[in-house]
Amino acid sequence: MEILHVSAECYPVAKVGGLGDVVGALPKYQQQAGTIAKVVMPAYQTRFREAHSFELVHQGGLWLGHAWFHFNVWKEVSNVLGFDLYQVDIPGLLDTPGVYGYPNDTERFLAFQIAVLDWLNEWQHQPDVIHCHDHHTGFIPFLLLYGYKYSRLRDIGTVLTIHNAQYQGQFGWDKLYLIPSFDLWKSGMLDWNGAINPLAAAVKCAWKVNTVSPSYMEELINHANGLESLLSTERGKAMGILNGIDDKVWNPATDAMISDMYTEKDVAAGKKANKLKLCEAFGLNPELPLFVFIGRLVGDKGADLLPEIIGRSLHEHPNALNFLILGSGDPHVEWMLEQAKQYAGEHFNVYIGYNETLSHQMYAGADFLLMPSRVEPCGLNQMYAMRYGTIPIVRATGGLRDTVTDFGDAGGFGIRFMQASVADVCHAISRALELHDSKTKFSKIRKTVMQLDHSWDKAAQHYIDLYTSLK
Ligand code: ADP
Repeated sequence: MEILHVSAECYPVAKVGGLGDVVGALPKYQQQAGTIAKVVMPAYQTRFREAHSFELVHQGGLWLGHAWFHFNVWKEVSNVLGFDLYQVDIPGLLDTPGVYGYPNDTERFLAFQIAVLDWLNEWQHQPDVIHCHDHHTGFIPFLLLYGYKYSRLRDIGTVLTIHNAQYQGQFGWDKLYLIPSFDLWKSGMLDWNGAINPLAAAVKCAWKVNTVSPSYMEELINHANGLESLLSTERGKAMGILNGIDDKVWNPATDAMISDMYTEKDVAAGKKANKLKLCEAFGLNPELPLFVFIGRLVGDKGADLLPEIIGRSLHEHPNALNFLILGSGDPHVEWMLEQAKQYAGEHFNVYIGYNETLSHQMYAGADFLLMPSRVEPCGLNQMYAMRYGTIPIVRATGGLRDTVTDFGDAGGFGIRFMQASVADVCHAISRALELHDSKTKFSKIRKTVMQLDHSWDKAAQHYIDLYTSLK
């Protein structure tokens, strides 16, 4: 069986969040399980592209409305990722340094999808399944069914994975002319609430749909940023498959990004050494428990609560803990965190920006990871943290609910709370400090979380079962 993943991100080529991690890892594990898995993504101007060799495998041109764009499809030659990587290069649209956030994102990702389909139309052999990830690839299932040009691809099965339903890529009907000709009687398949909505179109048209955790699938029926009734209607072809983590990239025993490698046998010493370096770099006292947050500084992640959480916890527990935050996003939250440095002094620091190496160092050097998410489709951070012996403090939602149990419950190993509120998070932090004080319990839980198996093997098999069910 041959699977073609179509995605806007793929680690280490280009990553903004969890989507990149998933598309960088899942195909590798699918290959190991005996499936042929390939990835096609845009050719952004990234360091990866400059550092690796590519061969030209296809040249073409496409109309985007009234504008003509030339495009190339490149294949990475050394198979460095463990699967075939193809990149679509569209000068003037996709040759950007970043992934998202451009005023013409609609045109960029629509052109990307047209280029992928045009290329497949001329490919000698075709994949059995096209696996689309998020709204950036949401027109593909629709165009395969109703696009006049792509009728020969109609037998290819399609799967849509929803990594985050908050982002849907909708735009006005005035841009309908950008979409390649299709059976106009089917226009309704593109529509949701009076707009063209690629995520909704993919939910309607993909043969199967999945979310990245079972709990998130259930939650979407009630909270899906407007798509609730659609997901409820299409529930029959949808399921939740929990993401895994790439345990080769995220492994404290071999991670070259951290200062001192360690295993669960020497976790106490290993984490102490990493914490020391991290605290030195950020002017924090390494003797105190260290609480970290890593992620996008947006409301969905509960990042707006952080300044108050820090202020209140430091007031409730003077000189008893430190906070370190890594992230970027909402400018107001960034500003509030910068301001917090003034009142939190030597107990708090923040790095505004994206820094992959620092994220590894924080998972290794921290004692606790905070995730006060309002929405968390799966969440990878908590799984990375646990692999590095860092105890997650999470709101019981989405994938966090599926991966973290509370240490107060039988067999539990993390800290859970119910509401994305300052009071609930501060209470969870107080519990964490008590846990930290009971040395034996703390050290036992640390070892327990390191031993949990969150590798992709199981999830890769679930996806293979899903593909098999298409035929
Ligand atoms: P989402 O995809 O919603 O942002 P996930 O938990 O699924 O959240 O994945 C987040 C991924 O992005 C993790 O690998 C995390 O370590 C990484 N990450 C997020 N923000 C940063 C940052 N500022 N610097 C480095 N890595 C980050």
